[in-house]
Amino acid sequence: MSAHLDHRRRMHACPCGCGAEIPHSKFSCRASWQRLPKTMRQAITDNHGRDAAAHGAAVGEARRWLQANLPGRCEFRAPRADGRGESRCTAEKADGTDHCREHWWAES
Ligand SMILES: [Zn+2]
Ligand SMILES: [Zn+2]
Repeated sequence: MSAHLDHRRRMHACPCGCGAEIPHSKFSCRASWQRLPKTMRQAITDNHGRDAAAHGAAVGEARRWLQANLPGRCEFRAPRADGRGESRCTAEKADGTDHCREHWWAES
């Protein structure tokens, strides 16, 4: 990693923890962006390139919101048909369990 990379071309990890690499000019992956409350999205886009301090504050607030409102993922794992590793369920957790509605029976 070079410290001399062009600031505008830098990538950063999506704040929702999905593992996506996001261009510096964007806040998060599309799914997370769409989950953000509209007022927070507006605060980010309205201040972008205009008011750096307000933009920074809006980004910080949205980041905290995302991390406090992460959709948990179902913990169900199944051996793959070809015997190589296991596949994971990508559905969101149902309330009060560690599994989605389809896999709640796997709860111990
Ligand atoms: Zn994400
Ligand atoms: Zn599931």
